[in-house]
Amino acid sequence: SDNRLLEIRIMSYGDRQLLLIARDITRLNQLESMRKDFVANVSHELKTPLTVLQGYLEIMQTMEGEDSINQKPLALMQQQTTRMQSMVEQLLALSRIEDAENVDLSQVINMPLMLDILKEEAMALALDDYYVEFECDPQLNVHGVELQLRSACSNLISNAIRYTSPGGKISVSWQRVPTGAKFSVTDTGVGIASQHINRLTERFYRVDNARSSKTGGTGLGLAIVKHALSNHHSELMVSSTLGQGSTFSFVIPTHLIEK
Ligand code: ADP
Repeated sequence: SDNRLLEIRIMSYGDRQLLLIARDITRLNQLESMRKDFVANVSHELKTPLTVLQGYLEIMQTMEGEDSINQKPLALMQQQTTRMQSMVEQLLALSRIEDAENVDLSQVINMPLMLDILKEEAMALALDDYYVEFECDPQLNVHGVELQLRSACSNLISNAIRYTSPGGKISVSWQRVPTGAKFSVTDTGVGIASQHINRLTERFYRVDNARSSKTGGTGLGLAIVKHALSNHHSELMVSSTLGQGSTFSFVIPTHLIEK
């Protein structure tokens, strides 16, 4: 009656017994969608003042002479407003609700396109000397949200680039495995100490090293990845050796693979 939402789990015990558990999640679902609306509205409202601030900062920078003592603080203010803008964009991405469709995984990381975007980012950080290798098994399609899968993959590749020294190597692949479709990114970068690994997907969590502060990230990337993956019944796996490199991977389970 009156559109209640039930979550039903069926578990089997031995050969003959089934256990059925039903839970009323109507209220939980309402709260979750209120929370998402709230985050979406707040992030949206924050965009306008940030754009105004940035516009005026640009004008002030041109008005000041090149060797004015105000150039440095103005540049810093601009850097920080840009950072805030990218946090707001990412928070908006976290709160968006999107419909699932048939997604061609080779298109999710359309490499020329993705590399162009990532290259810009890498160049801004003067990290243009890296090598990316890419492989994708043919005809691998899943039932999913393309934008979310794309943002999960690009966040992981972008991290691999940002946390790898120039001359490093990054391998990206989508492979068919017995449990589903596996995405993985391996880098030869700075690596992560084991005590940090469990906390990486927390919002705003950043491993406190000189590299993180230099790379100008927001600490939201892996939270977005986690959110996107949970919508696809998948989890992020991390294996890393400090000073040698990391592998980030996830498997989209078989039941979401389209024939
Ligand atoms: P950020 O914007 O700080 O990169 P993320 O959520 O994407 O935020 O990542 C959280 C932290 O995890 C980073 O600050 C960094 O310390 C660590 N990290 C993520 N990816 C890598 C990687 N490929 N190699 C080493 N450290 C990484």
